[in-house]
Amino acid sequence: MNVLYIIHKYFEIKKGNKPKTPITMIFGAKAAPAYTIAKDIIHAILCLSEVIRSDADVSPYLNVVMLENYNVTYAEKVIPAADISEQISLASKEASGTGNMKFMLNGAVTLGTEDGANVEIHQFVGDDNIYIFGESSEQVIRHYEKEDYSSEKFYDEDEEIAKMVDFLISKEMFAVGNKKSLIRLYMEIVTKDWFMTLLDIKDYIRVKEQVFADYEDRQGWAKKMLVNIGKAGFFSSDRTIAQYNDDIWKLK
Ligand SMILES: *Cc1c(COP(=O)(O)O)cnc(C)c1O
Repeated sequence: MNVLYIIHKYFEIKKGNKPKTPITMIFGAKAAPAYTIAKDIIHAILCLSEVIRSDADVSPYLNVVMLENYNVTYAEKVIPAADISEQISLASKEASGTGNMKFMLNGAVTLGTEDGANVEIHQFVGDDNIYIFGESSEQVIRHYEKEDYSSEKFYDEDEEIAKMVDFLISKEMFAVGNKKSLIRLYMEIVTKDWFMTLLDIKDYIRVKEQVFADYEDRQGWAKKMLVNIGKAGFFSSDRTIAQYNDDIWKLK
């Protein structure tokens, strides 16, 4: 979904809608050896990174970085530097386990779905200090039960979505990447999209634009960061272990 956002932003900047503050998006992730589509997504991120870097209209405003072999050493550097913590998995798929807490403790403001520990962060910081988008877990689970989600329908009926998805198989992307991998990712999204990327994409873009707008109020943003840091104490390992002991282990 973030890949599609990058494409959206690329188009916007090309149209002349430049962000007030340049944006750097950092991806830290790995794919299991046999998880083909995850590899294709990483490949697409690397391609986009190159397309943007070599485009003089866009590169002063947008930078895409895919960390190679993401690990704790990288996390120790990247997490304290981040302004926005993206925890954007489809609700019901556990957006994030602990990464979101590390970002919060270091003052990043969460942009995410209402799921996993994002739910608790939301409760602690309140609506003004977190950005929630997308359908709820209950709604998503209902789509799986009824089998009523069709990415093809979103693609066919929304020109803006189709334009973003089509960029994956554009001449710009083919010029820097592996055609087979890019086509496979495109086909996955249009014909399957098990994780319902297209379901939430428009709401994600809407809320993310709000995040960037709010960031321009530096005092207001600093307040959001401070509230996040101040409310992070609940996630202390001492409290967590004590609670596990009370609830489960019952050691004396
Ligand atoms: C925290 C961490 C994770 C786990 O992140 P989640 O958001 O909980 O899935 C994975 N890799 C590294 C290097 C981490 O520091």
